[in-house]
Amino acid sequence: MSKVIVIGGGAAGFFGAITCAEHGVEEVVILEKGPEVLEKVKISGGGRCNLMHACFDPGKLIESYPRGRKSLLGPFHHWQASDTLEWFQSHGVELKTENDGRMFPITDDSRTIIDCLTKAASSSGVRWHTRCKVQNVRLGLAEGFIVETSSGETLEAANLLVTTGGIRSGAARKPLTDLGHRFAPPVPSLFTFQINDKRLAGLQGVSVQCSSVRTGQLRSDGPVLVTHRGLSGPGILKLSALGARELAKKDYKFELRVDWTGGKGPDDFASKIQDQRRNHGARKVMARSPLEQIPRRLWERLSSAAGVTEATSWSNLTKSQERNLTEQMLDGHFQVQGKSLNKDEFVTCGGVPLHDVNLKTMESKSVPNLYFAGEVLDIDGITGGYNFQSAWTTGRIAGRAIAAHFG
Ligand SMILES: Cc1cc2nc3c(=O)[nH]c(=O)nc-3n(C[C@H](O)[C@H](O)[C@H](O)COP(=O)(O)OP(=O)(O)OC[C@H]3O[C@@H](n4cnc5c(N)ncnc54)[C@H](O)[C@@H]3O)c2cc1C
Repeated sequence: MSKVIVIGGGAAGFFGAITCAEHGVEEVVILEKGPEVLEKVKISGGGRCNLMHACFDPGKLIESYPRGRKSLLGPFHHWQASDTLEWFQSHGVELKTENDGRMFPITDDSRTIIDCLTKAASSSGVRWHTRCKVQNVRLGLAEGFIVETSSGETLEAANLLVTTGGIRSGAARKPLTDLGHRFAPPVPSLFTFQINDKRLAGLQGVSVQCSSVRTGQLRSDGPVLVTHRGLSGPGILKLSALGARELAKKDYKFELRVDWTGGKGPDDFASKIQDQRRNHGARKVMARSPLEQIPRRLWERLSSAAGVTEATSWSNLTKSQERNLTEQMLDGHFQVQGKSLNKDEFVTCGGVPLHDVNLKTMESKSVPNLYFAGEVLDIDGITGGYNFQSAWTTGRIAGRAIAAHFG
């Protein structure tokens, strides 16, 4: 009987397995259904692996998790970003921080992280098998777990660590259903919005750094990028994460409000217009936005939607045009007709409810010696390295708790 079987060879599975082994547990085996381990690490961050965020205050870090938030405070006090940083540095990986706080290996190559994890695993005695899908799991008669794999093998383990990732796939859910575990139903998070609107047509690549977007009670701030299918960028992705469930219920058809000024407010915009009227009255309105951050082509479209023509100068901008322009800039209404996959990063909202898990150990409250880590839990973050951070944290805690069994 193995001491520990880890189902799923992703970030959480490797980190959990390495932690067990580095704390003296022998016979730790990872079973991975795919042909390669750490497949998502490889493709993450556009192949560069944004493995964490430079946020070293657990109280602040939790704010980036629409699912998990308060429950993650305790776990982050055990293992937070500074611990991740130290661990990778002590295993020979140098990291760098980009302006927005995202952290990457200095090589800009996710292979560096894969090599680090596989080296740490093999040197601490962890074994792994690829193309080895776990088909069934059941409790052993006396103790432990019996695991049946796609290759027809039956394995036994005293402890089971389930790190099967986002539970949208049946294979990832199977160990949960086999062991009678509940899970919050899966819906996608971190997606972009499909919008067919002539104000945006042909503007792909145009971005506004400080925007605010909202729908209903949900609101997020950040860069917004026009794509050929609608809107994307960190501000949109964050809103998609905050509203993952709500927007799924609406079948991704809803009204989006965009404030291209980033919440500066109507007084600020009115004073900018006033300034143009006073100092540049003869200048054409469409020629340049009074707000530097608005790209000219977007400004032209918003002005045109406000009824401004190429001939309109600041001195003859009518009151009603000014009102329309203010609305376009501060509260533009856009009809979202669907969602698109964000190629750079996506996660599943849903998974094992955190109240079914002891967050000090990641052990199931209903099945002793069964542990969870990573995206299979009902935890997901916004973009920026937060999803890997929660995989490292929960993998670490589970690994330590399992190792504690063997004293
Ligand atoms: C394109 C993309 C880019 C991303 N970029 C980033 C980024 O830069 N930064 C960031 O923080 N997050 C990023 N993420 C999110 C991040 O990759 C995940 O949150 C993270 O990989 C979760 O780790 P995990 O170990 O829980 O699950 P996973 O990495 O999904 O690993 C789960 C593993 O379990 C295996 N498995 C499932 N069921 C079974 C079974 N029955 N038997 C055996 N094996 C099974 C799967 O094949 C998989 O290899 C990205 C996601 C995507 C899709």
